[in-house]
Amino acid sequence: MTGFIRHIVTVSILFLLSALTFVNAQELAPFVVVIDPGHGGKDSGCSGQLTNEKTIVLDVSKRLQKLISENFPEVKTVMTRADNSYLTLQERAAIANKANGNLFISIHVNSVDKKNKNRTTIHGASVYALGLHRSESNLSVAMRENSVMELEEDYTQAYQGFDPKSSESYIIFELSQNNHLNKSIEIANTIQHELITTAGRADKQVRQAGFWVLWATSMPSVLVELDFICNPDSERFMHSDNGKDKFAQALFNAFSTYYGKHKNDTHGPRVGKEIPKGTIAGNTSSDTTPESKVSKPKAQKSDITYHVQILSALKKIPKNDHEIKGVPDVDFFKDGKYYKYYSGSFSSANEAKQHLGKLKKRFPKAFVIKLKDGKPVK
Ligand SMILES: [Zn+2]
Repeated sequence: MTGFIRHIVTVSILFLLSALTFVNAQELAPFVVVIDPGHGGKDSGCSGQLTNEKTIVLDVSKRLQKLISENFPEVKTVMTRADNSYLTLQERAAIANKANGNLFISIHVNSVDKKNKNRTTIHGASVYALGLHRSESNLSVAMRENSVMELEEDYTQAYQGFDPKSSESYIIFELSQNNHLNKSIEIANTIQHELITTAGRADKQVRQAGFWVLWATSMPSVLVELDFICNPDSERFMHSDNGKDKFAQALFNAFSTYYGKHKNDTHGPRVGKEIPKGTIAGNTSSDTTPESKVSKPKAQKSDITYHVQILSALKKIPKNDHEIKGVPDVDFFKDGKYYKYYSGSFSSANEAKQHLGKLKKRFPKAFVIKLKDGKPVK
């Protein structure tokens, strides 16, 4: 080989090697979900007759982690605590941020004050995204969850003067710009839907309030209140194996839907691109609080989307049914008496075709469809 050709070959090999390294590096950056079981150690959270919040949420979190690891081995799961240890809110947020999380799910159990007349009858699940509360009940949940900072010595300094018991402190959550709010509301709505359908909980709706831990995490983040431990029936369900399994399955289903949509998203702020689905509760007419710009539901754009239809059925298929289990991003539309199930949502036919290629083995009869406003177009 002449010197010149040798040089060309060396450069080409180096180029190839660096290209391969680049591809590898991209493949090596996994989707990271941070699961945050609330409370722990000296902080038990809310207590009931049979158990307490820290115990329920740790158990549900572990089951959720197991489901994610088994079904999506490529996803990295990070638990802020995996045992009965005490963590400050700052430590939780630091773990999530250091792990470069793509999603933060904080799991809690709700309760109301002993003086509340509805204490033993109130029930249902709510998922919170960060925001300024629109009702006193939303504020009181945030105040209770934030009050764990009082267990820390010198918390006023550590949290820069934030006082969890003073409603004035909560104004920071209105003023803060949260780049991830749209995605947080999206996952909140998905989890809420699953808690009702899969875990059979009553719908206490998606809400917004100033949770310090959601504010401090730099990724889409939600705080889930599974049900009320002060209600004996709800507590029994949360304490049972069946109940914990259902909660974990509900959270997992919501995760798989979200992951199906966002696994290829890049890191970093994406402001104002997505439109949150659904509504935010607690917006009473007597409320004079100024509304934040992003939290109002807006009309969806009536664009055409492409999907892969996998099957049609005369009955609705449960989300965890073996027929559709593990299929990414499954949804359906009704066509006459048929429920038509499809996977994925793309803006071009080409992307849908690529997706079809991945599903053909399991669904040989699958094909690409076009939807407009959720209805098929020819
Ligand atoms: Zn809690």
